[in-house]
Amino acid sequence: MKVSIIGSGIAGLASAVRMAARGYDVNVYESADGPGGKLREYRSNGYRFDAGPSLFTMPQYIDDLFKLAGENPRDHFNYSALEVICNYFWEDGTRLEASADWEVFKEEAEKKIGVDRSELERYYKRNKLKYELTGKIFLEKSLHKWSTWWDKDVAKALMNLHKLDIFKSMHQTNASMVRSPKMVQFFNRFATYNGSNPYQASGMLTIIPYLEQGFGAFIPEKGMYHITEEVYNLGKRLGVKYHFNKKVDKILVHNKKATAIEVGGQTVPSDIVICNMDVFFAYQHLLADQKKPKRILSQEKSSSALIFYWGINRKFPELDVHNIFFTEDYEKEFAHIQSGKVYNDPTVYINITSKVVEQDAPQDGENWFTMINVPFNSGQDWDAIIEKSRQNIKEKLSRILGTDIAQHIETELILEPRTIESKTQSHLGALYGTASNDRMAAFFRHPNFSSDIKDLYFCGGSAHPGGGIPLCLLSAKIVDDIIHTKA
Ligand SMILES: Cc1cc2nc3c(=O)[nH]c(=O)nc-3n(C[C@H](O)[C@H](O)[C@H](O)COP(=O)(O)OP(=O)(O)OC[C@H]3O[C@@H](n4cnc5c(N)ncnc54)[C@H](O)[C@@H]3O)c2cc1C
Repeated sequence: MKVSIIGSGIAGLASAVRMAARGYDVNVYESADGPGGKLREYRSNGYRFDAGPSLFTMPQYIDDLFKLAGENPRDHFNYSALEVICNYFWEDGTRLEASADWEVFKEEAEKKIGVDRSELERYYKRNKLKYELTGKIFLEKSLHKWSTWWDKDVAKALMNLHKLDIFKSMHQTNASMVRSPKMVQFFNRFATYNGSNPYQASGMLTIIPYLEQGFGAFIPEKGMYHITEEVYNLGKRLGVKYHFNKKVDKILVHNKKATAIEVGGQTVPSDIVICNMDVFFAYQHLLADQKKPKRILSQEKSSSALIFYWGINRKFPELDVHNIFFTEDYEKEFAHIQSGKVYNDPTVYINITSKVVEQDAPQDGENWFTMINVPFNSGQDWDAIIEKSRQNIKEKLSRILGTDIAQHIETELILEPRTIESKTQSHLGALYGTASNDRMAAFFRHPNFSSDIKDLYFCGGSAHPGGGIPLCLLSAKIVDDIIHTKA
């Protein structure tokens, strides 16, 4: 059986491993010159930067791939748990170290921002319950198969519908459970983990802070790109053939069955086609003559990002791997993003892998991945936005860190919505496919299979269950389960 996979994003790489481990003849076609999609790396003047994802959660889904292949993940891929998940900074001088240790976290939140521990305990318990009731249904199975709904777990979730906060916004949910405005802002931030707006997205998303606190945050021993390298190498050991600089132009369909793909004028016969590219472009270019799922393709896109990869020529002991510098007005910041604009006082995120991976920066320096959330590309004047944002970010960081940041930047690379789209073919430069701002968003992601075309499957951030590394890995698992009739 020949399997053709279109795209080598993390879900494409994981699908390749899964199919090869089952003994299929697997070929991966990738239009870029190497694997990884958004999960690649840049190098400049002695600094190494992860290009896209910086937060690594649920590492067990990567480990599962090695285990499927009969290998010990620790022989190839290692990571460590972060003791401090993230450092938070506010303009009024408040700083909060979000420890991975729940007891330490509660103590710190009480000391630094006066949060009542009992509120945090209630909040955590409620989010845990939401995850236990819905995690399996919404994240690990296809929502588009009857078998998913014909299950006792669904009946249990329905009986507890009122506890899921589906019809409240994430902000309303947070504000109803926690009194401190700073803590509400802290919990609202988790909506950005899938490119959404906490003032619109459903209160169901509060399972994200539970997952981070409950399961931890990690860093691969050689940085995030190490994930791509090792899943790619694993596929190679299993016999997967990768073809780089090979853009797929068409999926050929005969009698409502995917029969082949077309690459550079060549037809590649395929028993199964797995599409890891953005579904919007897949329908626009590769399935141009097929019926389109209009409702799915017209869903609001997730937010995008503007990233300055800065090589910094000194060390900042007050910073850790993940650092957040909050805006003074979160609601206004999201209102700007929602209306296609970039706020002048944005929340700034800095990721510094050299805190753990020493070789990522020269001895006395640090590699700053400095990011703000911005809207998806709708034709804004990005050159002007980049200039203005660079200035705003430098001023904000200099103000909070008490030193002129500009004088320490010795190298700069930039990624923004236009280049995210051109480098990874993500529609409008969205980071996570569609946004979760609509309360029913989970049901309007593309299914992991085509209901019109037999033997055509979809994985990756624009398909169910959505964007982010863990969910992309789960999409590959769901495809595997469907093909092998478990879903
Ligand atoms: C700046 C940024 C920060 C992020 N932060 C995080 C984070 O901290 N944690 C997290 O978990 N996630 C994060 N994400 C999201 C995460 O990166 C993505 O959800 C995930 O990597 C998407 O993987 P994917 O499998 O959908 O494929 P993609 O990475 O989207 O790759 C798709 C691949 O398909 C290829 N392709 C497209 N069309 C064709 C064609 N016609 N023929 C052949 N190949 C084609 C593309 O070249 C690309 O390589 C971030 C993303 C970005 C950009």
